[in-house]
Amino acid sequence: MTASDNPHPETICLHAGFDHDPATGAVAPPIYQTTSYQFEDTEHARRLFALEEPGNIYTRIMNPTNDILEKRIAALEGGAAGLAVSSGQAASTLSIQNIARAGDNVVSSTDLYGGTWNLFNHTLPQQGIEVRFVDPADPEAFRRASDEKTRAWYAETLPNPKLQVFPISEVAAIGREMGIPLIVDNTAAPVLCKPLEHGAAVVVYSTTKYIGGHGTSIGGMIIDGGNFPWEQHPERIPLLNQPDPSYHGAVWTEAAKPLGPIAYALKARTTLLRDLGCAMSPFNAFLFIQGLETLPLRMRTHSENARQVADYLAEHPAVSRVIYPTHQEPKFRERADMHLRGGYGGLLGFELKDGAAAGRKFIEQLKLFYHVANIGDARSLAIHPATTTHSQLSEEEQLATGTSPGYVRLSIGLEHIDDIKADLAQALEAARG
Ligand SMILES: *Cc1c(COP(=O)(O)O)cnc(C)c1O
Repeated sequence: MTASDNPHPETICLHAGFDHDPATGAVAPPIYQTTSYQFEDTEHARRLFALEEPGNIYTRIMNPTNDILEKRIAALEGGAAGLAVSSGQAASTLSIQNIARAGDNVVSSTDLYGGTWNLFNHTLPQQGIEVRFVDPADPEAFRRASDEKTRAWYAETLPNPKLQVFPISEVAAIGREMGIPLIVDNTAAPVLCKPLEHGAAVVVYSTTKYIGGHGTSIGGMIIDGGNFPWEQHPERIPLLNQPDPSYHGAVWTEAAKPLGPIAYALKARTTLLRDLGCAMSPFNAFLFIQGLETLPLRMRTHSENARQVADYLAEHPAVSRVIYPTHQEPKFRERADMHLRGGYGGLLGFELKDGAAAGRKFIEQLKLFYHVANIGDARSLAIHPATTTHSQLSEEEQLATGTSPGYVRLSIGLEHIDDIKADLAQALEAARG
């Protein structure tokens, strides 16, 4: 694949997991738009179903195009295996269901994407999995909130709107003492942060955002770090250590041994993807592979543009506060510098002095920025959370999540920085008027 023993992200994103198609010589990853795969003979079929040999059975569970994406993202993260799923929401749901069942609990950071908040606050509890929320500012809060039924801890690397980097290293280290794996949603900071290097056990993505990068497709990814000693914690993690009646009594830590340290990913694929069916379509996997090819380049430009916008807004008379890692108090700035490399990402928030009315007016005046509920597009995007994504919350709850009435969230795109600034300038001027 490459002459280098330790290829860089730019190289991994172009080469890992696929060189060329052996059947045709095609260099671009083919779209294997097929539901099923011819078995060589009955013995081959038996071996595949018995997990004695890896191979393709049915596209709900595996597909060669998805496999390329899985291998590429796993390599980028330094993980052991990837599992492509139909959305970021499916990735976070499966990441929990894979090791927690009714009667168990999970401890999560309060700073979460809205969809994850609803999943954790309503749907998982309705299914018997309790989620306990703690303030991520204090890593020890995770220990205090845990008991013998706690199966995982969950957090986002760079959660908006506060954009305070999660203390991955500190929390993961405490979890490893207790046998509790940390699951990190790294959607906002691919390439910039590698949660596994900081001790996380599992990484999840909404590939919909920066990995796709062009606002075309919904998808998700789960990466098994291959770095968590599940077997040393049989009481803590029964679902990977006890016989699974849904797969002829397989013990996943044992079943994975011939394949590598992939017990977690193997179980998620062979039971949850099989039963819940949230598979990624091969066509979307192809589009995410296209996005991945330029991801390191794009993250650099997103980060550089956003840093310049932060500096610009910080000097603007209509703006009372800029929310971006470079403009945070030292404690959070240091955490950002400890966990992010090569930039602080493309997400940025700011507060308008004149509150909610100015926020609405500002959004309406934007010409270049799209007004959408999305992030991570190549195009610049803006939204006023108080009247949209956070409008169901009371004002008190809004403030607790970091959403003040005049707060505006930007996802800075890849346009020329001067054009981005010009659009912000004219909209800020109009919002004041
Ligand atoms: C968008 C998003 C999700 C959910 O992803 P979908 O692909 O929309 O299901 C999860 N986490 C974060 C941080 C997100 O931004």
